[in-house]
Amino acid sequence: MTDEFEGIAAIVTGGASGIGAAIADRLAAGGAKVAVLDLDPAGSAHFGIECNVVDDDSVRTAIDAAVRHLGRLDVVINNAGIGAQGDVTTNDDAEWHRVFDVNVLGIVRVSRASLPHLRKSPAAAIVNTCSIAATAGLPQRALYSASKGAVLSLTLAMAADHVREGIRVNCVSPGTVDTPWVGRLLDSAADPEAERAALNARQPQGRMVDAAEVAGAVAYLASPLSGSTTGTSLAVDGGMQGLRLRLA
Ligand code: NAD
Repeated sequence: MTDEFEGIAAIVTGGASGIGAAIADRLAAGGAKVAVLDLDPAGSAHFGIECNVVDDDSVRTAIDAAVRHLGRLDVVINNAGIGAQGDVTTNDDAEWHRVFDVNVLGIVRVSRASLPHLRKSPAAAIVNTCSIAATAGLPQRALYSASKGAVLSLTLAMAADHVREGIRVNCVSPGTVDTPWVGRLLDSAADPEAERAALNARQPQGRMVDAAEVAGAVAYLASPLSGSTTGTSLAVDGGMQGLRLRLA
């Protein structure tokens, strides 16, 4: 138990499951008051607010409710995201719009509604959940990769726009993280256990990333420990990108 988030109020989108749930737990363990904004916040151990990041009214109402409950807003974790598989021939325009609406515009809507509150905070930080897919050139992930590439660019642009307001903006770029999302993908395989073993074996460390490890990186980027860090992406990928050449 640490206290680096004592007096800090935070929201976590997509905080009811997987990486977002681990982030909410980590910030709360550090003393933060946390509100979870999610399509389905029922299972969250934290103050849950139903929110769909593709709906601007829903986002504005949820941020208002969060600030009413928390009394302030210092830290915004834009983590809600959805996946997509295939090459450019796989998904139609509607699917491209649907994924960008959640993964990219979701961050825009939540940030837009949060910025007036963050400007009042002496410790304002935004952390976006990006992905190794933004820069790795993963096969059969065209749409997802493009959306996370946009998350990376958006992070850098926002960092520049708000640096003089004292608001830091960074992102984490996880590799393959063992969450319900990955569980759903494995469950669709003929032999989920064999697929899980193969997936672990493909990782540089021989195992997937733990959601708590991503949460640790997010906690660093959200805390004053990283007070001079803005406009960066922190890889939490078991070395997948950094070690690629040595493992090849
Ligand atoms: P998950 O499916 O376990 O959790 C995602 C959460 O987001 C769910 O609680 C879901 O209800 C919520 N959500 C989805 N759409 C929403 C919407 N429109 N509005 C509000 N909430 C919404 O997924 P996860 O694996 O924890 O992934 C979380 C983030 O991490 C995503 O942005 C994903 O792209 C990113 N990521 C995941 C991995 C991985 O391997 N799991 C790797 C890199 C990046």
